[in-house]
Amino acid sequence: MIITKLQSGTQHANKKESFHMICDTAAQLDIRKMPPELRPVPHVVDFEGERLVTTWTTTQFGGRRQWWLCPSCDRRCAIIYRRGKGPLWGCRICMGGRYASEHKSPRQRLLQKIKKLRKRLGQTSGFIGTAPPPKPTNMHWRTYDRLVAELEAMEAVYLAPDFEAMEARERWRAKLLAQV
Ligand SMILES: [Zn+2]
Repeated sequence: MIITKLQSGTQHANKKESFHMICDTAAQLDIRKMPPELRPVPHVVDFEGERLVTTWTTTQFGGRRQWWLCPSCDRRCAIIYRRGKGPLWGCRICMGGRYASEHKSPRQRLLQKIKKLRKRLGQTSGFIGTAPPPKPTNMHWRTYDRLVAELEAMEAVYLAPDFEAMEARERWRAKLLAQV
């Protein structure tokens, strides 16, 4: 019975599809977030017509941790996803899932890092490219100096295209004015 399910799952996972599943918004079951009374006991449950299998490992301090066994590849995983309207569940790899952050461009990721660093320095609103926030009272000067240097380097990279565009506009204007 389980074998049958695993085979059909594998076929589903191998199907080439043109879009990527975004893990953040996909239907998912995170076993770590399930209340104990909702966790699959025994290890095999029928969920929306699909047979889901779980397994246990022991943790370092004598506890036990429950995992899904991916219906497609049998891998242990904490989260299984359902892709589109398909009835089958699978791990992130089988489902070809990506995280939303992977879809961001390098420039978007850099901006995210800059904002995160400014937040660490105590700035929660306002602009980038402005003077760095003053040193938070609980931060060592050495850490502050290092973070400010990092911030300035990243912002120089981020803002460089704007400066280049500005300079290009200035050159173009000067050229026009010279022709008059
Ligand atoms: Zn899998």
